[in-house]
Amino acid sequence: MQQIQQGQFAAGQRLALRERRPQGTRVALPGVELGGRSFVVMAGPCAVESAAQIEAAAAAVAREGCAVLRGGAFKPRTSPYAFQGLGAPGVQLLLDAARRHGLAAVTEVMDAAELPAFDGVALLQVGARNMQNFTLLKALSHLRRPVLLKRGPSATVDEWLLAAEYLLAGGNDQVVLCERGIRTFETATRNTLDLSAVVLAKQRTHLPVVVDPSHATGRRELVTPLSLAAAAAGADGLLVEVHASPDEALCDGAQALLPEDLADLMARLPAVLEAVGRDLWRATPRRRALAR
Ligand code: PEP
Ligand code: MN
Repeated sequence: MQQIQQGQFAAGQRLALRERRPQGTRVALPGVELGGRSFVVMAGPCAVESAAQIEAAAAAVAREGCAVLRGGAFKPRTSPYAFQGLGAPGVQLLLDAARRHGLAAVTEVMDAAELPAFDGVALLQVGARNMQNFTLLKALSHLRRPVLLKRGPSATVDEWLLAAEYLLAGGNDQVVLCERGIRTFETATRNTLDLSAVVLAKQRTHLPVVVDPSHATGRRELVTPLSLAAAAAGADGLLVEVHASPDEALCDGAQALLPEDLADLMARLPAVLEAVGRDLWRATPRRRALAR
């Protein structure tokens, strides 16, 4: 196993750089691959709230032909009084719903000590606030499991790529980068979606890059246009929040797409993707069977 050594981050030495693997890295999840020709949509609620809620979301996500179900169970909330997530039972509810619908699952891990609760999770999310939690990154670097690494709200592109470097340096190259908006002076949106960072990250690294337009904007009406923009800019996929009854959501309802909005987005993506030489990953019975 490669160790992180002093000096290894010298220019040209870094493992995440595009020169290391000009053809790009593909990250395989059950039934789907990130970083290939096909654009992958990962969707679901901000948080797993109940069995009925995640079931309704999973049914919508599967119906629209998406690949991956999202849903947080361990939630990093700004306020300690806000809903903190269901924890390990929430991961189980997510996995049960994902399995019923032939979807892979992505959910956030905040603490390596909780990893036993994440067996069966296809993609382990490191949240924006934990992008520089080096202890967590080192622990995940020793796994051979795909990791979704969100960009910190105030992280430069280079800091983001160096955080990814921690995963690669420990021996885990199954890394997907996720741009989710950065903190700027603008208050009209929750964050500012930095699509230049998506293009830069794609040029500078061989890792797949996806976009989270939900946390980037905080506003449902902006999510579809910016999803299309992300596809046009060369992103490899989306992580998008969807809720069957957003008015009742315990977390981030204002930015959640309704199931019909997801249907509209999935209908509009192919034309944009075709213009940039890509296509949209869509479920087939065989792909669904692989994810079960
Ligand atoms: C999330 O995706 O659930 C989340 C908390 O996002 P971020 O870490 O980007 O704020
Ligand atoms: Mn959220």
